[in-house]
Amino acid sequence: MTAMEFTSTRDSAKTAGFAAALLQGLAPDGGLYVPRAWPELGPESFGDAGDLPGIAARLLTPFVAGDPLAASLSAITSEVFTFPAPLAPLGTDGRLSVLELFHGPTAAFKDFGARFLAACLSRLRGPGQRPLTMLVATSGDTGGAVAAAFHGRPGIEVAVLFPKGLVSPTQERQLTCWGGNVQSFAVRGTFDDCQRLVKQAFLDPELREQTELSSANSINLGRLLPQAVYYAATSLAIWRQSGEKASFIIPSGNLGNSAACTWARKVGLPIGEIVLAHNANRTVPDYLDSGEWRPRPSVATLASAMDVGNPSNMERLRAMFPELHDLRTAVSAFAVEDKDIRTRIRAGFEQFGQVWCPHTATAAEAYERLSAARHWSPGRREGRWVLAATAHPAKFREIVEPLIGRPVAVPETLAKLFARPTACTEIEADLTALRAALGRRTSSWKS
Ligand SMILES: *Cc1c(COP(=O)(O)O)cnc(C)c1O
Repeated sequence: MTAMEFTSTRDSAKTAGFAAALLQGLAPDGGLYVPRAWPELGPESFGDAGDLPGIAARLLTPFVAGDPLAASLSAITSEVFTFPAPLAPLGTDGRLSVLELFHGPTAAFKDFGARFLAACLSRLRGPGQRPLTMLVATSGDTGGAVAAAFHGRPGIEVAVLFPKGLVSPTQERQLTCWGGNVQSFAVRGTFDDCQRLVKQAFLDPELREQTELSSANSINLGRLLPQAVYYAATSLAIWRQSGEKASFIIPSGNLGNSAACTWARKVGLPIGEIVLAHNANRTVPDYLDSGEWRPRPSVATLASAMDVGNPSNMERLRAMFPELHDLRTAVSAFAVEDKDIRTRIRAGFEQFGQVWCPHTATAAEAYERLSAARHWSPGRREGRWVLAATAHPAKFREIVEPLIGRPVAVPETLAKLFARPTACTEIEADLTALRAALGRRTSSWKS
C-alpha cells in the first residue's frame, strides 16, 4: 500500500504524514490537513466487519499507510471504540432513526475523536521528550472530551479554553473537574475568541519556543478521521439490511462532524444526502444560499456547542468542493432558531418518547422542514434518514427538563464527573494573557 500523504488546504505542496499531521494540528501555513488522494472503500471492502473497532481498522488502514502508527492501528481502534453508537428507530416504518453518539465518557460524540487522538499521540511520545501541550478551544463539549481522553497521560499537558459564562453549568463542570495535567481557562470572550487565540498561539514564535503545541480541535486530522467511522458503520448496517443509502442530518457548528461524513461518502460508503443542521449561527446556510462567505461573530443559542460564526472546517469542505455548485450538491443546510429548538424538544418527547439535547433537536427540526418541502407524509417518506444525536440530554438538563416536564436521568459516567472538585483560571481574550497563563501553570482549587 502506498504511503498516505496529507496536504494543507492552503498549499498542496505542503505535505505531512499521518503522525506529523496529528502532532502539528494546524499545517504550518495555517491551513488544515486533508488527504492528498482518496482511497476506495466501498461496502465490499469491509468484508463482514460489523463492530466499530473492526470497521474503524478497515476504514483507517489506508490513511495510516506508511506511517509509524500503522502497526498499532488495530490496538488503537480497540482502545478507542469501547462504547456503542446505536441506531434507535423513530416511528415504525424504519425510514427514520436516531444515531446515538453520546455513550462515551463525556456523553457527546466528541469522545470518539478525542479518544482516538489521545491514543495516537500517547504512542508518539517517548520518555525524555519535551511535554506536548494540547491547546483546545471549546464551545462546551470538546474540552471535556479532550480532557477526559488525555487526563493522566504522561508527557502530554492539556490547556482548555472556554468562553466564560457561555457553556452550560453541566459542561462547565466537565471542563474544570480534572486537575493533574489538565488546566482550564475561562476566557472573557466568545468561542470565536477562544478559537482565534488557539490559532494565534500556533503562529506565535514565543509560545512555540516555550512548549511544543498541538491542537485537539476538529482542525486536527486525528479528530476528523475517527468520526468517519460511525458514519461508515451506520451506512453499512443500513446498506446490508435494506440495500439503500443512508442520508444523515448532522447538528453542525465547526463542521468537523459533517466534514467527516463527507469523507466517508467520498471513499465510497453508501451515504446519500448530507444535511447540516445549524442553530441561529447561520453563516453556512447563508453561504449556500447567497454564495457569499460572510463569517460573523457567533450568537449565543440553546445549542451552545454549535455557536460558531466562522466554522474552521469550511476550509476542508471547500478544498473538497471548490465550486460552489458542487458544494451545494454535496450538502444542504438549515438554520434553526431557539424557539424551534424548544418546540422540537417538546415534540420529540410527545411523539416518540425521546429526549433530545438542543443540538439533536436542530437535526429533528431540519428533518421536519425537509419533509414539508418534499411533501413527505408518515406513510410516504423517501430514503433512509438518520439524525445524528450529538450529546446526551442530561448535559443540557437545565434546558431540557422544563420543556418535557420531567427530570432527565444522568448517565453514570457523567454522575462520576459531577462528584469531582473543580478549578479554573480566568483570562482576557488575548494572546499575552494566554502566554502568561500557560507559563504560570497555577490555578486555585475550589470545590
Ligand atoms: C461540537 C458539537 C456539535 C458541532 O459539531 P461540529 O463538528 O463542530 O460541527 C454539535 N453538537 C454537539 C453536542 C457538540 O458537542
